[in-house]
Amino acid sequence: MFKPVFAGLLFLTHLGAASLLSAPAQANNIADNLAEPHLFIKPGGAQGAQVALTLDACSGKTDLRILNMLVEEKIPATFFITSRWLQHNQPAMDIMLAHPDLFQIENHGAQHVPAITTIPTMYGIKTAGSLEAVTKEVQSGADAIKAAGAPQPQWYRDATARYSKDAITHIEKMGFQIGGYSLNADMGASLSAGSTEKRILNARDGDVIIAHINQPTRHAGEGVASGILKLKKRGMRFVRLKDVESSRSVLSDAKH
Ligand SMILES: [Zn+2]
Repeated sequence: MFKPVFAGLLFLTHLGAASLLSAPAQANNIADNLAEPHLFIKPGGAQGAQVALTLDACSGKTDLRILNMLVEEKIPATFFITSRWLQHNQPAMDIMLAHPDLFQIENHGAQHVPAITTIPTMYGIKTAGSLEAVTKEVQSGADAIKAAGAPQPQWYRDATARYSKDAITHIEKMGFQIGGYSLNADMGASLSAGSTEKRILNARDGDVIIAHINQPTRHAGEGVASGILKLKKRGMRFVRLKDVESSRSVLSDAKH
């Protein structure tokens, strides 16, 4: 699973730190045959540090504090959207589609269902339960994105970012790369603005940042907007997933 495209000391050290943080969850993951894939992009090297900003639109509305800032500052981002979100947020989708030079639109599923076949719920959300249901969730999500006028999605990130291992294999066979991450900026849009900003400012070269763009009334979104802006002013470069090489790590429970 691991493609050692650019594995180095920094990369491995970083991976180790990320894995330690999720250690308590790993015990359960092993029992349930679940994985939480990590994803890194190639470090920027001589060009300067770079990160990939990924933003999930699970359901609900659109946080224009983030979207408008990205447009105004010309900051590239990769959005993972569900068809459920798309049905109620066409104006935001129009903004994303109007900036193909900045924004990549990828697949977060049709109804925000975890791609898990081994347990009935994850964090209170009903899981797919079968590979047939995973197929439907992934394919319907991709179809909705194409129908809205975006290119065929190449990446898939499920609800909760936890997967059963059979689902990962299945989704990859369907032609999608798994949209993992390395830096959780907002913990499901649950953090304060200050905490979210602080986490984003800790981003390092090669990180894939995950945050949410569908919670305009929560404080976390304010921290996403301010954190990204400050990171840019510090000289961090932003790239989309399709612009760079990336490397999904060994599955989180596979070597610990
Ligand atoms: Zn989501």
